[in-house]
Amino acid sequence: GLQAAEQVSSKWKGTTADGGTTKNYIGGEFLDSKADKWLEVRDPSTQTVVNRVPETTEHEFNAAVDAASQAFESWSTSSILRRQRVILELQHLIRQHIPDIAKSIVLEQGKTFADAQGDVSRGLQVVETAAAITSTLLGDKLEVSKDMDTYSRRMPLGVCAAITPFNFPAMIVLWSAALATVTGNTLIVKPSERDPGATMIIAELCERAGMPPGVINVVHGSAPTVNRICDHPKIKAISFVGGDRAGKHIYDRASPLGKRVQANLGAKNHAVIMPDANKNLTLNAIAGAAFGAAGQRCMAISLSRLAIFVGAAQQWIPDLIERAKELKVTGGFEEGADLGPVISYEAKERIEQLIDTVQQEGGRILLDGRGRVVPEYPDGNFVGPTVVEVTTDMSAYKNEIFGPVLCIVPAETLDEAIEIINANKYGNGAALFTNNGAAARHFELTAEPGQIGINVAVPVPLPMFNWSGNKGSFLGDIPFYGRTGLDFYTQRKTTTSLWPSGDAIGNKATVAMPQ
Ligand code: NAD
Repeated sequence: GLQAAEQVSSKWKGTTADGGTTKNYIGGEFLDSKADKWLEVRDPSTQTVVNRVPETTEHEFNAAVDAASQAFESWSTSSILRRQRVILELQHLIRQHIPDIAKSIVLEQGKTFADAQGDVSRGLQVVETAAAITSTLLGDKLEVSKDMDTYSRRMPLGVCAAITPFNFPAMIVLWSAALATVTGNTLIVKPSERDPGATMIIAELCERAGMPPGVINVVHGSAPTVNRICDHPKIKAISFVGGDRAGKHIYDRASPLGKRVQANLGAKNHAVIMPDANKNLTLNAIAGAAFGAAGQRCMAISLSRLAIFVGAAQQWIPDLIERAKELKVTGGFEEGADLGPVISYEAKERIEQLIDTVQQEGGRILLDGRGRVVPEYPDGNFVGPTVVEVTTDMSAYKNEIFGPVLCIVPAETLDEAIEIINANKYGNGAALFTNNGAAARHFELTAEPGQIGINVAVPVPLPMFNWSGNKGSFLGDIPFYGRTGLDFYTQRKTTTSLWPSGDAIGNKATVAMPQ
């Protein structure tokens, strides 16, 4: 695994005897940090240190903002055709390097190789959609009268920043890397300190695609670097994806300073299974969504991994458990792997403690993945697929588990299931499995989450739509990608022009409001 990931590039990595170090990417240069604090990145299936991330110094951080600020002057006024061409070139390079980026993800993050390729591909779709910028950024124009026109332009904001989570190290970086830059902004990316490799490869591909120095910059670190992003007066907008705590902190710190902030937060995604659903399609989809990426997805039935079996569908639970048992738990590079390890030993402990609470609080453990040992990877952070039956007052329901644990809540009617969903503070996604069109429409209209799946377990919208998590899953006003993504990275300027064919008649000024 390590060997495979190192083939990608050596440019962004400093070599040390063990694992190496990650450089910052500032003003078009991969620079060794002078940080005195370094954070270890461990392969979650072996605990081997595979990388180290600097806690970027203030001086380095400021250099990145200066580089971005300087690059903005020429990038923001460069031809939109040029920016489109760079994005097209980037699209081609990412496509070529999907396996390389995916290998880095498997090594640092643990997900399976097939799943890691999906991570890159979903981000690539955002790049592909961004290439349509010459059509999507068209402004409006109205000929108001013979001499007067009103028209709007969409201007870039300036230096923007993206702060990203560990669970989609390629996809989420590409959400902002593509849209911020194609609209003429420059960008500082602060990737998750737990898996920086994918971002670094993407930065290198941006450079190869022709992005001038300073248009995209990468600085590493944890809370201190994030706080500098919140506070720096030259940074105009922050796009954050991650947990509730960090997201709220960033929103509360940066918004009062006048920055535009969008923050995608945690989730509890419910799937409702009606007895008239196609059984195989439903159970395969539920198991895939619940246990894929070892449960570390923000959509799917993932963060909550919660299925509400309605009425007679409750009899399908044993079949679901059989499917869960068949999934292969092993290192992400292994042939046929279905679930890799979770991100850290602490995450494994936390997940297992939440499974313990099910027993303590009177729920039932129907399939127990605690203490899972994979002989080839004895030190890996593995948790086997777990299925528990809980009620909504139990800790396993109330907390975001972020591991391969499917919570089942029984309900007697569809309306009872919708009530459970709507009582939840989160509003990311919800899915209904049924063959009844009227029930599906009722669900779509009354379930409150922003992303609805009908017989689709992972209803992540394609990038021409927007990510529409709401309620407690989002802070801000302008959601990610799609049309709203362009809105986030641009501000409007509307001109009213009068080109009269001659001078005004008379010399008396009009002081009433012009109509
Ligand atoms: P996290 O909040 O721990 O980290 C996200 C980013 O915030 C990282 O770059 C990290 O360095 C920074 N950060 C962490 N703690 C901070 C603090 N105290 N102060 C300032 N910055 C801080 O999230 P994670 O564990 O990397 O990712 C998992 C979380 O992300 C889950 O809660 C999941 O629901 C969420 N997520 C949401 C979506 C979505 O679209 N809604 C998508 C993916 C992940």
